[in-house]
Amino acid sequence: MPSQTNILWFRQDLRLIDNPALAAAAHNARLLPIYILDDTPHPWSPGAATNWWLHHSLSSLATALAKLGTPLILRRGNPATILPALAEDLQATAIHTSHAHEPTLRTTDAALARALPANRQLHHHRTSTLIDPDQIRSQTNTVYGMYTPFARAVEARGEPDHPLPAPTKLHPAAPTPSDRLEDWQLLPTHPDWAGGLRALWHPGETAARARLKTFVASAVSAYAKGRNLPGEDGTSMLSPHLHFGELSPRTVWHASRTETDTPDHHTYRRELIWRDFSAYLLWHHPTLPDAPLRPAFNRLTFRKSKPDLHAWQQGQTGVPIVDAGMRQLWQTGWMHNRVRMIAASFLVKHLLIDWREGEAWFWDTLVDADLASNAASWQWIAGTGIDAQPFFRVFNPVSQGEKFDQDGAYVRRFVPELARLPNNLLHAPWTASPAQRSEAGVRLGSTYPRPIVDLAAGRTRALETYRATVRESTA
Ligand code: FAD
Repeated sequence: MPSQTNILWFRQDLRLIDNPALAAAAHNARLLPIYILDDTPHPWSPGAATNWWLHHSLSSLATALAKLGTPLILRRGNPATILPALAEDLQATAIHTSHAHEPTLRTTDAALARALPANRQLHHHRTSTLIDPDQIRSQTNTVYGMYTPFARAVEARGEPDHPLPAPTKLHPAAPTPSDRLEDWQLLPTHPDWAGGLRALWHPGETAARARLKTFVASAVSAYAKGRNLPGEDGTSMLSPHLHFGELSPRTVWHASRTETDTPDHHTYRRELIWRDFSAYLLWHHPTLPDAPLRPAFNRLTFRKSKPDLHAWQQGQTGVPIVDAGMRQLWQTGWMHNRVRMIAASFLVKHLLIDWREGEAWFWDTLVDADLASNAASWQWIAGTGIDAQPFFRVFNPVSQGEKFDQDGAYVRRFVPELARLPNNLLHAPWTASPAQRSEAGVRLGSTYPRPIVDLAAGRTRALETYRATVRESTA
């Protein structure tokens, strides 16, 4: 049995395979793996869907660690207080953990570094992104604001390292008291809204690897087209597994690298770089979740309409593809990327509601809620980020639906009250004649809402508001 003890502080790296923090902490040492639920309230405290996932992921991790002979210790409170005390109790040599991009975790890291005595080391390992955000800079040594040059710079560095294997045996540290996971009450009780999540998802490293295997064996070779079709299983659905670190991005990267690599495989890996880009933006712009990256848009005057926001959240806007997406989110904790873009654009542009309202709703309801990806994506849609779509681009939910859900499979699945409308009317039921609607059993305003906004008028209102803001800022 090794004489020294190390602490492994798990965060968004809930896995055994390709976990550099675990490999370093377990090397010639007894190991104390710990997860700390930091329940200090802050503006981006974990949402309900995140907590549901976390519970199951920790349970799966605890089982995997127990098989290797080490219990997972659970504690609740401030890591900057708990870890130094634990390090003293165990006379631990070092604490190993992952690098974090989120401002709150960075504050905790700084407090922990201050609180640890000099004889206890603190090591951060890169476990959740492909690259170190401090190592990617433009030729003029500035932080990239645009995705494409950033992606090129990442690719120019060559392939990421190959994943590390899982340890085959661990030496446990001295017995240490632990909370019981059930006592953290991360799961919903009354009402239990998680049935749809349980039906679709299996949190934990084993299930994550199975999903990756299935995706690589099937959809990745048709990804470039398939990823835009919400009615098909064209994407990997790995985002929550990646967010919680049940898979490392380089594991996914290398799994999608085959001898018969096609442009589809490359397109897929480019999405992993989008994920890194979001983390990079958050690292260099910690205000990303809360304030427009382009200050001119601080002056945008959004509408405040609780009824419209509520209709959007509940999937009752009267615009089928938007409602299908919002219901998919509510039922399953996930939404297809194409529909996330359409639904987000509808909120910010057609309804002219503050992007931060949408960001907060996604934060609470997505199982893959990720501070960096969520904030960067909302700013992209709102046109307020640095690398954003120009503000005058407004997704037309009808033509997007007709193009990407041509056979209506997606809308019919989540908006069954419209299922009997023919394909050419499904995405705009208000254009159907009374006879066509009656034949399909659709009564607007009764079985399905009328659109809460006139799409053309909503678009014009958004463009005028954005244009006025831009004019004022340049005047
Ligand atoms: P795939 O198409 O299989 O892509 C593989 C992986 O690449 C994903 O798992 C994800 O980790 C990453 N990825 C793909 N697209 C993006 C992207 N545009 N930005 C960053 N990473 C990407 N993604 C999150 O992980 N968490 C969020 O909170 C989140 N919020 C979003 C909010 C809005 C308004 C929009 C438009 C997008 C958001 N995304 C978010 C990005 C994207 O929608 C999801 O990552 C993707 O839908 C996840 O499904 P998938 O795993 O099947 O993706």
